[in-house]
Amino acid sequence: MLRPEDLLRPTPEGLYCPPGDFHIDPVKPVARALITHGHADHARPGNTAVMATAETLDIMAIRYGEDFCETRQVAVIGERLDIAGVTVSFHPAGHVLGSAQIAVEKGGLRIVASGDYKRSSDPTCAGFEPVPCDVFITEATFGLPVFRHPTGQAEIIRLIRSTEQFPERAHLVGAYALGKAQRVIKLLRDEGYDRPIYIHGALKKLCDYYQTQGIDLGDLRPATVEGGDKGVFAGAVIVGTPSAFADKWARRFPDPLACFASGWMQVRQRARQRGVELPLIISDHGDWDELTETIAELGPSEVWVTHGREEALVRWCALRGLPARPLHLVGYEDEGD
Ligand SMILES: [Zn+2]
Repeated sequence: MLRPEDLLRPTPEGLYCPPGDFHIDPVKPVARALITHGHADHARPGNTAVMATAETLDIMAIRYGEDFCETRQVAVIGERLDIAGVTVSFHPAGHVLGSAQIAVEKGGLRIVASGDYKRSSDPTCAGFEPVPCDVFITEATFGLPVFRHPTGQAEIIRLIRSTEQFPERAHLVGAYALGKAQRVIKLLRDEGYDRPIYIHGALKKLCDYYQTQGIDLGDLRPATVEGGDKGVFAGAVIVGTPSAFADKWARRFPDPLACFASGWMQVRQRARQRGVELPLIISDHGDWDELTETIAELGPSEVWVTHGREEALVRWCALRGLPARPLHLVGYEDEGD
């Protein structure tokens, strides 16, 4: 019987499968990479061969150029593929458009590397699909019992109320470029917000791509002030990357009201440090309940914990008699929290 460590093990390059000779989400260039999703810490350019969902491959090409790898292979969700006697399959992770968990199987042993995931609803991507497995590899970005995320809908309603309460102020919403920005916009549309939404130039290509994938983001316009009438931004929602709003660019808008959409906005000190007036707790990672409920639902015989607050989740497993260990993978600081 194969031991889990013989099928998948942490290495400095990332998770490595010795019998299949491939890496999952490598942090350094490798010969063969399987990629869970398009965030920059998981999907890097320079690998020789890349296998990922069609959306993740498109997103990598948008971000890095068509030459981000030498050969690419589309992984169709749910389809089983053979790599040197190892069976791999991709399953929705509910994190961002195209995001997938990767199941790796050999000799009756199945390990699921879930990448980043969440269980709460997201109108911009397919929902997380539980895959029974012997070893479940879970992220732990918000792996502490204090982290409990409200619904995205509830947070977006707070944003809409604020635009009504302060109709003269430009509402600047900081959101990561892949996933979060489009989710914020789509949530606004789903709540009936039908005014134009202004976006920073750094978001344009990915927003356009989401629209081509059937995610209707409505009337999006460039948030450019030069030569235009500043008045159009009064009470408007302007979405930009967090770095754009740290820049001089943001100070051109009328009486700006700083908002930021992130799971970290639950930590008041973080909101204060960033000068955020309206923190929106909208996370693309599972909170404590989502992480623990997922483990309980899957009932694996072993759990490996990575990305973030590993110890609390390892202890939670141990208290239930479930073997668990931290992977201590380095190089993953999610750009899309
Ligand atoms: Zn991510």
